[in-house]
Amino acid sequence: MKRKSKIIFVALFFITITPSIVFLQKLPIIPQPVEITTGAGTFVINYKTTINTSTRDKELLNLYEILSGYIAAVIGAKPGLSGNGTNTINLLFDANIQHNEGYQLSVAEKNITIKGKSGSGIFYGIQSLVQLFPLEKSSTISIPQILINDYPRFKWRGVHLDVCRHFFPIEFVKKYIDILAAYKINTFHWHLTDDQGWRIEIKKYPKLTQIGSMRKETMGDGKPLGGYYTQEQIRDLVEYAKSKYITVVPEIEMPGHALAALTSYPEYSCTGGPFEVGTTWGVFDDIFCAGKDNTFEFLENILSEVLTLFPGEFIHIGGDEAPKTRWQKCELCQKRMKTENLKDEHELQSYFIQRIEKFLNSKGKKIIGWDEILEGGLAPNAAVMSWRGTEGGIAAAKMKHYAVMSPGTHCYFDHYQGLSGEPKAFGGYTPLEKVYSYEPIPAQLNDEEAKYILGAQANMWSEYLETTDQVEYMLLPRLCALSEVVWTPPSSKNLDDFLSRLSTHYDLLASKGYNFRVPPPLNEVGELVLSKNEKVVLGSQIRSAKIYYTIDGSEPDINSSQYTEPLQFTSPVLLKSKTILANGKGSPTSAVMISFIDPETNGLHYNYYEGDWDLIPKLWEMKPDRKGRVNKLSLKSIEPREDFYGVDIFGFLNIEKEGEYTFYLISDDGSKLFVNNQLLIDNDGLHSSKEVSGKITLEKGKHPVKIFYFEKSGSQELRVEYEGPGIVRKPIPASQFYFDN
Ligand SMILES: [Zn+2]
Repeated sequence: MKRKSKIIFVALFFITITPSIVFLQKLPIIPQPVEITTGAGTFVINYKTTINTSTRDKELLNLYEILSGYIAAVIGAKPGLSGNGTNTINLLFDANIQHNEGYQLSVAEKNITIKGKSGSGIFYGIQSLVQLFPLEKSSTISIPQILINDYPRFKWRGVHLDVCRHFFPIEFVKKYIDILAAYKINTFHWHLTDDQGWRIEIKKYPKLTQIGSMRKETMGDGKPLGGYYTQEQIRDLVEYAKSKYITVVPEIEMPGHALAALTSYPEYSCTGGPFEVGTTWGVFDDIFCAGKDNTFEFLENILSEVLTLFPGEFIHIGGDEAPKTRWQKCELCQKRMKTENLKDEHELQSYFIQRIEKFLNSKGKKIIGWDEILEGGLAPNAAVMSWRGTEGGIAAAKMKHYAVMSPGTHCYFDHYQGLSGEPKAFGGYTPLEKVYSYEPIPAQLNDEEAKYILGAQANMWSEYLETTDQVEYMLLPRLCALSEVVWTPPSSKNLDDFLSRLSTHYDLLASKGYNFRVPPPLNEVGELVLSKNEKVVLGSQIRSAKIYYTIDGSEPDINSSQYTEPLQFTSPVLLKSKTILANGKGSPTSAVMISFIDPETNGLHYNYYEGDWDLIPKLWEMKPDRKGRVNKLSLKSIEPREDFYGVDIFGFLNIEKEGEYTFYLISDDGSKLFVNNQLLIDNDGLHSSKEVSGKITLEKGKHPVKIFYFEKSGSQELRVEYEGPGIVRKPIPASQFYFDN
């Protein structure tokens, strides 16, 4: 009997009731294919299995090599080539398959057939098949009978890598390509030039790498850092990526992020220099001079070499974060503005990009740039990469320009994946679930405009990624979520189902030796508030993982208590827990104070308002959109929307010992704290995470407290901590808040 994948989804919701059925039918393929039909039997790959394909076709032979390599890694023998017969795997082109990158994978009793309209389709069919292989060595590989018809949702399925802020060896870039290819990513955006390093050999301008690829130190560490790729290495990498159906899009930044280039050739700046390759992060004032014709000649000569190395359709020209300070003071730039009739420096930037676009178009290439290229007028054929939110992509699509969506909120993989215990990252919080939830087509676009959204891309900026291990950690498992965002039809996306399939992929990633983030047992920080008799439930998305915990403050390891059932405590404790895999790899440690409250009396009231403000508005004059009670002082427990809201939170704080208390109010954006009806701390305004403190003498007993807070956009945070007689600084425990006096 055969059934469609839609029915399987229904079964998945009853995972705990009918595990045997689910086990038989669940296929841990990521990204989730468009259509899966499952049959009853299996096909067994053994040492007699052969592969049937056309030996005259170079591409099919390459695909044969790829598939036979995967099989040999499990059964220890490489399948030979043969004609069609029984116990064969057929790799075939099929013009009837509609989608260019589409494939059909059928596993029947006597053979497996993978058909694609093109080589990429067959390659993706192979990727789906090998995700069903066992992770251990075995003399046979048993594959359930299935029929998969599959094709990608988007044409641009991108992942980026910044090799300027930190340099990564070419062997690692190949490994990165391997990881991307396994999840059907087809575009690798290689960020090759920036203030802190020029990483691509240009024969005509040797100083770019002799001088521009080296910086004397990084953020004051006193250690020189450098590195670049030769043209030979780049050609080899581009070929390697092509064999895995990945197009490499090089990024050559202009007119900003040019300090490494200008240090090598200061004559193309406005001031003439001298300069120094950037040693700190940020945005620098010195950019290419738009007034000198020599600058364009220089960049065109560079691009002429670049475009011989990268056969793809697009060249990324950057275009972001270019301060206009130098242009405003430069005689030549100002003269250019007059002769070209440009009304401001934004139009001068637009002139710059359009002139480069004209050159690249004449060579048969298209440009793509960060969304700042919209400012001052978009070049006629340019595509836009939308990173400062989605507005750039929306504007481009409405103007009938192509756009790739990579908003910081969902697609920046240099952001933190967890709330605590994570290695140093750039900032922000973009967990796996948030990446998974991303919808690349903005709701503001109609069907016609939506066609201009080419796809989406994850960006891997490397300011804080000092090692390749860290890059892998930030990539995985978020890449798995992204792959489903850009491949799977929205109607087939389901987070629980994805996490269930991902469980198998954690083991797959471990078997490959990749570094990845293991999710911790609890996604809570600070305080976990329980009422009496309530138990603590720890969990793991990884079936093969074990959870360990301590309550004595020590770091959990495999010698600590193993979690087997929900935990019950009778007094407040510090609970530290950790997920540990069979290979020893551990999650970040989750550390929470367990505290007990009476949910009827302990807690705070709140009013919740929606609106767009730059300062705390007069909330007391407004009608709240919602009001309620929370047992814990945290934004999460109020369940606000992501942006554009305000809250006031109020109740009573119990003070057990009279004396002087210091309060700390930490927020993003603004907040105010009132104690005893007086303003104690003013932390108002639009800002990122900022702490302000205040002192007050309090008597024993309950004191009225009130907090105002608002969030415009971006990250959000609100915390209150205190210290006083017998209390070292800590968050105010939930047990000290009361609804009423
Ligand atoms: Zn200038």
